[in-house]
Formats: sequence, C-alpha cells, structure tokens
Amino acid sequence: MQHADDTLKELILILEKDNEDRTKEEKQKVHNYVLKGNRLFRVINDGARERFLFVIPKSMRKSIVVKFHDLMGHFAADKTVSKIKELYWFPYMKRYVRRHTSMCFECLVNKVPSGKRQGFLHPIPTGRRPFAIVHLDHLGPFVTSSKGNNELLVMINNMTRFVRLYPVRDTSSKNVIKSVKSFVEDFGLPNRIISDRGCCFTSHEFQRFCGENGILHTLNSTSHPQGNGMVERVHRTILSTIVTSMEKDDQRDWDSKIKETERNLNNTVNKTLGKTPFEVLHGYVPRFKDGILRLFADEEHEVWNDPEKLQLEAREKISKGQEKMKAYYDKKKSGTLLFDKGEIVVVRRNSRATGELTKTQPRYRGPMVVTEILPSDTYRISQLEPSNGRLYATTAHVSQLKAWRSWNEDDDDSSENSDDEPEVQRPKRTVRKPERYGVYMQDR
Ligand SMILES: [Zn+2]
Repeated sequence: MQHADDTLKELILILEKDNEDRTKEEKQKVHNYVLKGNRLFRVINDGARERFLFVIPKSMRKSIVVKFHDLMGHFAADKTVSKIKELYWFPYMKRYVRRHTSMCFECLVNKVPSGKRQGFLHPIPTGRRPFAIVHLDHLGPFVTSSKGNNELLVMINNMTRFVRLYPVRDTSSKNVIKSVKSFVEDFGLPNRIISDRGCCFTSHEFQRFCGENGILHTLNSTSHPQGNGMVERVHRTILSTIVTSMEKDDQRDWDSKIKETERNLNNTVNKTLGKTPFEVLHGYVPRFKDGILRLFADEEHEVWNDPEKLQLEAREKISKGQEKMKAYYDKKKSGTLLFDKGEIVVVRRNSRATGELTKTQPRYRGPMVVTEILPSDTYRISQLEPSNGRLYATTAHVSQLKAWRSWNEDDDDSSENSDDEPEVQRPKRTVRKPERYGVYMQDR
C-alpha cells in the first residue's frame, strides 16, 4: 500500500537512487525518511534515541486511527497519538486524530470536559520508590456483573502512575483488605495509602490492617473527595472504556475486560511523565499483539533504560507538572464558553437520575440545536428532529452544554508537546451539520 500511494511512491523512488544522483530538492524531500527492505520509515529523533516509524499511506490512516481510538477505549487525542506514534507515522497526525476524536460521538456523549474539575488543591507527595504511596478509590456502582461484581477498586501509584484494578462485590472493608493483600503480593507493602473517607477506609478493621503492616493511612479532605487530577483522569478513562464495552457486549460482562483496560492504562504515555507507567517502572516498552502490521514496523525498537534514572525524572516531572497544572486550571476557570444560534450542542443529563446505571449512562444527550440566546448565559435548545411527533426543547445553562465541534480537551491538554509537525490553529466553534452516528469525516 505504501507503493500504491502517490506521495510515498515519490519518496521511495528518490530513496532508491544513489545519494549523489539526488537533486538538492530531492534530498530535502527525503531528509527524514529511510528505506528498509523496500519499506518506507520515518526517522524520529527524540533526544538520544533514533526510532524508525512505519509510514502509514493515506488510504490506511482512518483504519489506524479507528484501531487506536475507537477500538482501544476512546482515549483522548493526545494519548491516541502517542500510542500510534510508538510504531507508526503519518504527517499531521495530531490534527487528524483531533479531528477524528472531535467527531467521535461516543466521546462526545460520555466524556466530561476537563474545565469542570474540582481543581488540584492538594498536590500529592511523590514517594521515593515505586509503590511507596498508593491511592485507593472505589469506582461504581456498576450493574452487578455475572461474576457478582458491583464496584471497582482502583489503586494508583503516584510516582509511576501504575494502575491496578480490582473488581469487587461491594465497598466493604473486607474486600478492600483482600484487594490490598493481593496488591502487596505483587508489589510489596506501600509506605502510605491515600483514600477518601468512605466507611470501608475509616473502619476499625482497615485501620488495624494498616497499623499491623506499618502503613501510614492518609484521608483526603471531605470537601474534595477526589481532590487530585491524577485519580480523576484515571477514573474517567476507566469509565469511558467500561461504557464503551457495555454498549457492545453484555452489560453484565463489564468486568471481563478489566485486565485489558489496566494494561492499556499502564502502557499509554502519561503526559506528565512523558513515558508509560510500565516504562517508568521497568525501563522498557513492552510490545503486545498488534496484528500483521507489527511485523513491518518492529525494527530496532528494543530500548532499555535504567529504571532508577527514569524514576528520578518522573519525580521531577511530577512536581513541575503540579505547578503547571495549577496555572492551567486557573486560566481555564476564567474562560467562558459561548454558543451561537444554530450551533449543534449536547446537553448534560441530570446527574440525579435514578438507577444503578447512572454512572455509565452517556453523560450528555443530543445532538440538539441552539434556537435562542437567552439572558445570563442560558440558551433555548431543541432536538433536531421530532420523535414520536414531538420536538423536545428545553432551556439550559452554558455550564450544561458542550459544542458538537468542541475538541476533546481531555487531560491536561493546555500544553502542546513539541512535535515534528506544525501546529494548526484550532477552528473555533464552526457551525456544521451533524454527521450521522458512526460516520466519520473523510479527508478532503
Ligand atoms: Zn471516541
């Protein structure tokens, strides 16, 4: 397919010539490319290591992005890009992936914009070794799975950002202790556990468990039950993955792919660390099954670094990141979002909805259209088409609305990573017709 792509074929033909036969212009064109065994690779130089990324022909871009975004748990654009860039390359990837995710209906109705977060009022101290400090949190309730699980206990190490997920039957101390014991078998005793004030954590039983094992237990403040971005981001990713799999498979199987979710989290580049949690922990990037394409891309890819060095870097980056996040949060808080008449939006569901599915229902409904601009940041919005002969319309405050075209600014997206592609101005609130569900924009 590379050879069938006009642009790539041109590069391949130049590279097949001897260097001295190439014109100055041609040399310029193939500057960052190399041909290996008839296959075209992009040369990426990130600091010390040189990597060769398989160049994806135009005709395969969409399928690669669908594979790494839609089929891998709807990670945010930046995470999707970093996953693709472990092995593959094509020009303007960041812009392409952003466009794709901004058109992704599942992302639109499920993800919460990052601006509404509670803030980063409690920077978490970093332990001096992996798993010294571990955050514990329950996520749920979910539909009771066929295995009888109802909740997810999430354990995160704040230095490596390594995550362990334990589906549990309930939020009892008994099950927390059971999961922590299993965690200890793999990683040893933490020095410190941070949790909210849930009664499973404040219980005598859990306190005694910590005491007997010499674990210092810190309770989060009540006003900010999940008072840090790290935990919330992980939760959001897990939730969107579970929601997605619930739509595809039996809802009562939500816990069957939890290992896969855990693996994806631990092997996705963390923006603060610039590395995957697994790499910071072990010093290398593991490869998993990646289809036949992997055979083409997997050349000179094995790199090993001293984990001690990586972990020292991680600690520095986390403390710098905490400062940066604060600045970003303050900036974000001051900005107000405005909509135009005719703009397509989705509206947040009332979170008081009943039933155990609340957490996994799409958080937004729509698409709707703005029909009138009302005073004090409120809008009249209505459905695009009548259902059952009626056209549903409602009034919503700006804080409940999200623009169809809003980029998925998940995560700390404020800072653009230096990249090998020029950054393009983000289009602002372009009014456009809604695409049909599941239909993606094609390249012009
Ligand atoms: Zn998506």
